[in-house]
Amino acid sequence: MRFLLQYLMLLAVAGAILWLIVRPRPADSSPSTPAMLDPETTQQPTGKRYPVQKSDAEWQAQLDPLAYQVTRRKGTERAFTGLYYNHHERGTYTCICCGQPLFASDDKFDSGTGWPSYTRPIAPQAVEEETDRSYGMVRTEVHCSRCGAHLGHVFPDGPRPTGLRYCINSVSLGFEPAK
Ligand SMILES: [Zn+2]
Repeated sequence: MRFLLQYLMLLAVAGAILWLIVRPRPADSSPSTPAMLDPETTQQPTGKRYPVQKSDAEWQAQLDPLAYQVTRRKGTERAFTGLYYNHHERGTYTCICCGQPLFASDDKFDSGTGWPSYTRPIAPQAVEEETDRSYGMVRTEVHCSRCGAHLGHVFPDGPRPTGLRYCINSVSLGFEPAK
């Protein structure tokens, strides 16, 4: 009789342990972005995946410090300091991060602002726009559609034919002369 009791207790303990191992768990419902990320200071649209996707460390290794600050941290280069505000060669301006063609020299104009300015991107799908409410202003931010690199802003005070002024940081751009 005592032996049977011991046997049943052993069976109960084994059953409890087995249940702990195989019991169903609630599905993992943690969001893909940490809840502590403030959308106002998040540098890229939440959850947005670009065709060219690199880690922060990879961008830092690839870019010089100013290009990194501007393209990946939405910085702005000082006016009249960049390579291209006073640049008049014929050719194509490309993304410094991923090489995608962004602007054509034919659409470039002298805005007098100290930043290279264009009336339009080389193709509508080359850039994406997003409302930027930083620094107490409402502006339209422009970034590369392929890698998300911050390029600058677009303003509705440009010349013909579009009336738009794409105000772009030189440091966000590369340049390929026309052949
Ligand atoms: Zn890019």
